[in-house]
Amino acid sequence: MNPFDTIAAIATGAGHGGIGIVRISGDQAVRVLRRLFRRKGSEGHCKPSKDSAFPNPRRVYHGQIIDPRSNAMIDEALAFYMAAPHSYTREDVVELQCHGGPAVLNAILDAVLSCGVRPAEPGEFTRRAFLNGRIDLSQAEAVADMIQARSRSAGLLAARQLDGVVGQTIRQWVALLNVVTAQIEAFIEFPEDTADMVDDFQRQALLHRIAQELVAPMNDLMATYAQGRVVRDGIRIAIVGRPNVGKSSLLNRLVAQERAIVTDTPGTTRDVIEVDCFFGGAATIISDCAGIRESQDPVEQIGVERAQACADTADLVLLVLAADEGCTAADRKLLHKYRDKRTLVVVNKWDLVGEAHLDPFDVDATNGKSIKLSARTGLGLEALKTAVQEIAEDLGSQAHFGATLCHLRHKRCLEEAVEHTQRALSALQDSFSEDMVSLDLQAAVRALQGITGESTDEAVLDAIFSRFCIGK
Ligand code: GDP
Ligand code: ZN
Repeated sequence: MNPFDTIAAIATGAGHGGIGIVRISGDQAVRVLRRLFRRKGSEGHCKPSKDSAFPNPRRVYHGQIIDPRSNAMIDEALAFYMAAPHSYTREDVVELQCHGGPAVLNAILDAVLSCGVRPAEPGEFTRRAFLNGRIDLSQAEAVADMIQARSRSAGLLAARQLDGVVGQTIRQWVALLNVVTAQIEAFIEFPEDTADMVDDFQRQALLHRIAQELVAPMNDLMATYAQGRVVRDGIRIAIVGRPNVGKSSLLNRLVAQERAIVTDTPGTTRDVIEVDCFFGGAATIISDCAGIRESQDPVEQIGVERAQACADTADLVLLVLAADEGCTAADRKLLHKYRDKRTLVVVNKWDLVGEAHLDPFDVDATNGKSIKLSARTGLGLEALKTAVQEIAEDLGSQAHFGATLCHLRHKRCLEEAVEHTQRALSALQDSFSEDMVSLDLQAAVRALQGITGESTDEAVLDAIFSRFCIGK
């Protein structure tokens, strides 16, 4: 498949909308437009576009789209032409803005494809924008984040990355690494010319520079990932507890209230259920970690392991107890187990116990806050939601100022870069061979360039762009 032949796709979402857009990119885009678009003349009727000045990139044309095979009119539309390189893909781009129904859009796409154009793959327009150098890979990823953003703060974070903050930071470090490498290579080339004094002085200056201007800020950026991830994906909440304390009931309550989407994670029967949910403006992913308990049954064992893993990776654990049973030995075990995690203890089934039982649990002392709740009556739900929202806001509060990492892929690349830079630093400190130092610095450069896409495997690119929708 030629990566630069002309492609087309419906760019707007599936379903019915007021307006829909079919987008064409590549050197055939103008030819296609001329074939299937009739401009509305001053007399009000439409005519084929023989005019050689058509299309002009600074104009919007009003007219009709016809099927070139039958000459039948498909829709009334607006046509835009963006001439290379001043377009999203840096190629010639034509956009046809028509009525937003699936039948119309498919008919127009079909007519476009009949002119010898190929359907675009998911993310292919953005991939071209990247391959043609308009945006770097971190910006391309931000495009997908922007479209998939589930909260306003996730949108803001994506906007900052789309603006290029991460890429700019990375490129500054790459430039500095190259300067430092050049200085070290000068040591290698002229070892006798440099008197020991100068050598040592320069070595100290280099050491300082690598430590202060590379390793330290790299580590700072790495530290932003915890917040960035929370803002981008939402905080991960795991509901845990013994069987029958009311975990699923609590989840259903939250879902019903928030009209969230329930999705069963495919796999075994006793699997983890994940739900997208909003608390105030904070996006969360809540998992019902089905019955954490010891089991000999191998199928159930898998479920228990998954429940375990889901609780272990969560940002917040909702540990559910049943008020009528009190805090059992098994509950205490769970409290102990999650003592180092951010935990909210939810004492459910509060409707079953009287005021006399008001504080039967010694849980506040062990794990912080506990919330009295009844999944049956709804008592305590608001308090729970407020508490979760506060935690979510606290976790993600600083994320959209400055460069923030929100992709695991970026974090891995950065970790590798830090590791190599740190190794170069140690080698330089111990007066090891300059060759080794320079190799490590160059490895750090390549790791960083994995983030911006200057050195990224084709397979990684495929994986990134397959996340996109068709038409973007
Ligand atoms: P899970 O095994 O922890 O997921 O517990 P379920 O949500 O399946 O609930 C177990 C049983 O407790 C069911 O019969 C529920 O109807 C009941 N239950 C759950 N929450 C409450 C509650 O707040 N009050 C009362 N009285 N019963 C509840
Ligand atoms: Zn359950």
